[in-house]
Amino acid sequence: MVNSIAMNRVLVTVDVEALPARARRDHVQRLIWGEHPRGRAGIAEICDLVEEFGGVALFFLEVAGSLYDLASYREINSYLTRRGHLVEWHYHPEILGKSFWRQCGATGSTLRQDLFDADDANLILKWGLEQFVKVAGRMPCAYRAGSFRWNRQTLAFLSENDIGFSFNACAETALRDNYATFKPDSPRPFYWENGVIEVPCGEHVVGTEVVHFRFPRPFPKDCGPRELARAIASRSGGPVQILLHSWSLLDRDEHGYFYYRNSDRIKAFRRLLERLTKEFSIPPTPDLFISNLHSLLQDDEQVPLPTVSSVVSSESNVHVK
Ligand SMILES: [Zn+2]
Repeated sequence: MVNSIAMNRVLVTVDVEALPARARRDHVQRLIWGEHPRGRAGIAEICDLVEEFGGVALFFLEVAGSLYDLASYREINSYLTRRGHLVEWHYHPEILGKSFWRQCGATGSTLRQDLFDADDANLILKWGLEQFVKVAGRMPCAYRAGSFRWNRQTLAFLSENDIGFSFNACAETALRDNYATFKPDSPRPFYWENGVIEVPCGEHVVGTEVVHFRFPRPFPKDCGPRELARAIASRSGGPVQILLHSWSLLDRDEHGYFYYRNSDRIKAFRRLLERLTKEFSIPPTPDLFISNLHSLLQDDEQVPLPTVSSVVSSESNVHVK
């Protein structure tokens, strides 16, 4: 039976990242704080909106970018924590480049986390974990891999380091970007056999499309935000995850750089939350956020770690070697 505390919740999760290709310069200011000549729409505004509707968000802070700018990332962590939100670990090690990782002792054969072997996974994830601790001053409780690229080595690393939650299972991104991944059966959180709790991003099939709830996104015909949320909730047992990035309230120019055009996206996100909170609520505290996830777990539900033969090819939907 689903604990009533879990019913009808919207869990806002936000990847906070200053990826090099998404701004010409001043990456942290532009992509995380959202500061641009014509206005500001970044993490502070996301906090404002989520708080306006009575809740807290879970921010996944990318830490590879903090290598050359630790003070700025510490300030981001402090700011979000001061406002009462959750801050957990997000990681795009690929932005540091192959030669960096070779110097650290990795093979450098791939920078894709979904293709790491055990040695590269351990070395590169250990570096990222230490960087998170330098930024946040504590161990994380949850991990989301950059671009949802992860594999069984990721899960093994989380278990060995007592990181309880993996927010990684997402089929839509793998299908779009054409790489192999494990496909969750449902949006409901579950235990991997090594004790790590997986929180799938939560997807729904509409016609021929597999969609998860992110902002901004075009909604499929006949499936607006409330319909999508209801469909996901009915299969998750309650919570619906909405995925944002720190730059989700900005527009993108022809070079792929984000910039502030006007307040339209702030208004659109407010309208979305307004609509959803008519029948869903946002957890008001970090504790309730986590207890929402725990309350959905069923003790007898344990999923074996994905092996090579159980990885699904996104291209052909068949098992790959
Ligand atoms: Zn990311």
